[in-house]
Amino acid sequence: MADMIEIKHLNKYFGDLHVLKDINLTVKRGEKLVMIGPSGSGKSTLLRCLTQLERADSGEVTVCGEEMLTKDGYRDAKTLREIRLKTGLVFQNFNLFPHFSVLRNITEAPVRVLKRGKAEAKQNAMGLLKKMGLETKADSYPCELSGGQQQRVSIARALTLNPDILFFDEPTSALDPELTGEILKVIKELAAEGMTMVVVTHEMSFARDVADHVIFMENGVIVEQNEPSVLFGENASDRVKQFLARFNR
Ligand code: ADP
Ligand code: MG
Repeated sequence: MADMIEIKHLNKYFGDLHVLKDINLTVKRGEKLVMIGPSGSGKSTLLRCLTQLERADSGEVTVCGEEMLTKDGYRDAKTLREIRLKTGLVFQNFNLFPHFSVLRNITEAPVRVLKRGKAEAKQNAMGLLKKMGLETKADSYPCELSGGQQQRVSIARALTLNPDILFFDEPTSALDPELTGEILKVIKELAAEGMTMVVVTHEMSFARDVADHVIFMENGVIVEQNEPSVLFGENASDRVKQFLARFNR
């Protein structure tokens, strides 16, 4: 079976700034990839390229088993849209629509974009809210929820179209420590269900628990990658150890 993500020689610039430098990476179906690294290393940009929020400049990229970027450039708009609809992204700052209810935040894409029936979309959304422990919050507005609840809504939203891959960009970085745990628990449950995941996080014990593979990025380069027992262990490079020392207080 085709890999879920295959990246070959990916490069991305912002003007003169070379942000992703010859990235090569493979993610298999069901795999949990965790990305760590200092701020500014290109982690978000890589996720944004994979979810089509940014365009890469060169390379070859397959997402959900479909070629998205080839030697000849990006695929046609219809193919790109199909690929995009198979991915879900959860942001650090939730990115909910503040003027929509929780329910509408989740049903907006299926109803407006995919023209699904409202009743069906609502039923699906209520199921996802239940799964997130938020079935009583359907009519609330984001501002009436805790950060942890808002993030669970945005996870429900990311799941609405039944994605093949979920991307998380520092999903707990905006949360108080006591709310972080509830989100990590939800992500672990999704992981246990077999979801393919790419997670950028600074939660190292979570990373060690959930990851099949960990990459350490710095200055737009994958500096080191390995299974968590190695990357978080004694045989990691001095640079990785130095980076991790900050999180082991
Ligand atoms: P990380 O998520 O690892 O902190 P980012 O991918 O956000 O890193 O950023 C990588 C580099 O790209 C940084 O130097 C950042 O300032 C720069 N950058 C990110 N987004 C943009 C943008 N839209 N325009 C210009 N530079 C950007
Ligand atoms: Mg980032």
